[in-house]
Amino acid sequence: MGGFEGLWMLKQLLGALERGETVITATRRLARTLGREYASAQQAAGRGAWESPRIVTWPEWVEELWGQRLLAGSDAPVVLGGWQEQALWERVVRASAGADGLLEPHGTAETAREAWRLAHEWRLDMAAIRRAGNEDARAFAGWAGRFAALCREEGWLDRARLADEVKKGIGRLRLPAAVLLAGFDDYPPQQLDFLSALAASGCTVTRTAVEPAGPGAGAVLVPFPDPDRELEAAARWARALLERGAAGRIGVVVHGLAGRRDRVERVFRGVLEPAALIEGDARPSSFNLSAGRPLSSWPLVRSALALLGLTPGDNAWSDISGLLRNPYLEGADREQGARAALDRRLRRRGDFLIAGSSLPALCRREGAGCAVLERLLRKWLEACGASASPRTADEWSRAFSSLLEAFGWPGERPLDSLEFQALDAWSGLLSDFASTGLTGEAMARGEAVAMLGRMAGSLMFQPETEGAPVQVLGLLEASGLSFEHLWVAGLHDGSWPGPANPNPFLPIGLQKEKGMPRCSPERELEFAVRITRRLLGSAADPVFSHPLREGDRELGPSPLVAGVRRAAPEEIERWAGPSAEEVIRASRVIETLVDETAPPLGEQARQRGGTRVFQLQSACPFRAFAELRLGAEKLESPLPGLDPAARGTLVHAVLEETWRELKTHAALCSRPDIDEVVARSADGAIGRFEHERGHPLPARFAALERQRLRRLAADWLEVDRERESFEVIEPEEEKYAETGGVRFRVKIDRVDRLADGREMIVDYKTGITTPRSWESDRPEEPQLPLYGTIHGKPLAGVLYARVRAGDLRFIGLVDDDVTLPGCERVDLGAKVERWRAVLARIGGEFREGRAEVDPRDGDRTCRYCPLGTLCRVSECPVAGAGDEGEED
Ligand code: SF4
Repeated sequence: MGGFEGLWMLKQLLGALERGETVITATRRLARTLGREYASAQQAAGRGAWESPRIVTWPEWVEELWGQRLLAGSDAPVVLGGWQEQALWERVVRASAGADGLLEPHGTAETAREAWRLAHEWRLDMAAIRRAGNEDARAFAGWAGRFAALCREEGWLDRARLADEVKKGIGRLRLPAAVLLAGFDDYPPQQLDFLSALAASGCTVTRTAVEPAGPGAGAVLVPFPDPDRELEAAARWARALLERGAAGRIGVVVHGLAGRRDRVERVFRGVLEPAALIEGDARPSSFNLSAGRPLSSWPLVRSALALLGLTPGDNAWSDISGLLRNPYLEGADREQGARAALDRRLRRRGDFLIAGSSLPALCRREGAGCAVLERLLRKWLEACGASASPRTADEWSRAFSSLLEAFGWPGERPLDSLEFQALDAWSGLLSDFASTGLTGEAMARGEAVAMLGRMAGSLMFQPETEGAPVQVLGLLEASGLSFEHLWVAGLHDGSWPGPANPNPFLPIGLQKEKGMPRCSPERELEFAVRITRRLLGSAADPVFSHPLREGDRELGPSPLVAGVRRAAPEEIERWAGPSAEEVIRASRVIETLVDETAPPLGEQARQRGGTRVFQLQSACPFRAFAELRLGAEKLESPLPGLDPAARGTLVHAVLEETWRELKTHAALCSRPDIDEVVARSADGAIGRFEHERGHPLPARFAALERQRLRRLAADWLEVDRERESFEVIEPEEEKYAETGGVRFRVKIDRVDRLADGREMIVDYKTGITTPRSWESDRPEEPQLPLYGTIHGKPLAGVLYARVRAGDLRFIGLVDDDVTLPGCERVDLGAKVERWRAVLARIGGEFREGRAEVDPRDGDRTCRYCPLGTLCRVSECPVAGAGDEGEED
């Protein structure tokens, strides 16, 4: 850290440590950095061993002094932990009048707790808050009164008042001869009072000068087109320094780092550590990112929270799917394939809700190869049974551990270093959660899981990599640090100085009067000026940068750095090698391989898919190959209620049942009991549907569906009634046919025989499809033409029966001499011959193995196809660029 005049603080701090003084820092990061610098200085002085320096943060030091008071045996209250305070505030807020109207009691309690801390630090009087404030401030004052009373009754002390309590007995404590404070931006009155009391007790108190000696002479201000290019330039600058072995610490300060953390990490990793993208690369990281991610977003913790969220009652199918794919369960690797297959089967069943209590039986029935999972689920249900009733947080903490243990969490696979650290943080979180049980309040299980989830969501977790040569920090974290090389990014005129953000529970007038942080634009400006000056002085030649545009907004430099010498991006030293992204992008050139023909199907080979072979091969040969020969299908995602396909199946079934009983047009026109026939058919259709899916529909769904089917079938019979005489032929047994060498099963919805003996093929449709989809060399819906070509009897028509509420009609083609409203008359024999030729060719191409990426109508064909990432059509501009076309 030596070598630059602007390293204004370090010498003073190291000197104080040498003299055995206690250094108190504003942040943990500064404490750690100082510890490392002290060790380096000792080594540089040729020492092999030295006494540990006394470096602590302010809260740690106050707590240490409180510990002395406890050791002295005086009668002292119990100091609450942070989560305990939060739980207590929540209890107070929830119990207050009007709490029912609060949308977010948890967030309200958090803001109230912050207001309480600020009120003590800045010496705001509760009576003054009540007097000067609005309704919110008065509500806060009321909660604060109850919070204080509860603490008094129970003998608890919160951290906002800890410094005042320590101060009361400061004369009886063993104090250091001198303390030196470093890196503080503000000294609130509470802290100043404490320091005065300290000084009065004989301790020498020194505050390091917070202002730098002056801005680095070589500071420059550089614009970049957008935030991404600005970040990449900063990463390339850092790599250039590393490559040429530049001495000293490299800092990159990013304004708004917390909100851009993932993007910043990706850019820095891509430029500084492309090898980290290769699995198993265990080199130490060359950069440290100070902003953490919520603990709940780390996979190991997310998996634990997901497991705790499962209940023996109904769970969303997606939660059960997550359980089956959870890699942190016992047997997850061994049973990976079997569990994935079970997931697929459950999705196909289509149940939106799945009872946790049914899972072991489901596993046994449908989960071949999932024996370990079945055993775990039984253990889990036992553990659930033992933890069904409401209990306190510490009891829940133990119960949660048992529930996770029942699943064998976190599994058998050795954890990597990040997972170990996350596991450690999780254990700490569970014990923090347990500590919130001090109020003795019992919670239901769902409430306890939600609270634990909230805690994991607000706890920022960052694995340790701090010794890295490049430090990427937020603006405030850079407080008190200095660097040999510094880049400050994101200081544009829309973000710096930031907006005022006063606490809503404290009267603004009082906040301004006391000069509290973030209370007004003036206060923000003053703060931003101070931070900017410090950053300017934190290195000899700092680079300040800003984007010129973000989305639609045009941006300029922050007015606080407008006076810094402007420089063009080209003037900044930057590593010129390719980033990981560029390497990957460039490598595709050598991967080019035209491979669009699969091995042909053997003569005897059986082919699944039936008529779908023709539909998919016609739409896109690659899709037919991938779905029907490779089995690359989209996984189902059950919806609440019945999905459109299930509702279509029911409509088919009710009309099939109805005509099985009526048989002829004459019966339709003469029987008086048509309503009863339709009612019986609707019952039969639902019964069949339930039998096929293996369990009944919820009663309310079934009743609604029965009603819908009756109405729709009765309306459809009115359409049939208008026709000339016909007879519905009893559906034939399943039969097979072959076209173009592809064998398929024939299951025609309905065949009507007319009085002259010719027949009509009828296909029920609940969607919107028209006979236009049968035409062209690549027909969109080849199923009915296919049936037409293999029917073998004289044909009078090939028809869709469109059965949709409010849209009931026949549409299709009839022979020249047949009349049916809505249908076009054609030479049906000639049409069938043309279809035969087209379909034989399509079937033949499938058998030959033609599998090129060739969507029939470009984007329109691809829009609903799930295979876009497999076929990579987006990388194939010719195939993907179809016209949008008009949809049926
Ligand atoms: S996304 Fe388009 S090109 Fe790719 S398989 Fe599907 S239809 Fe074919």
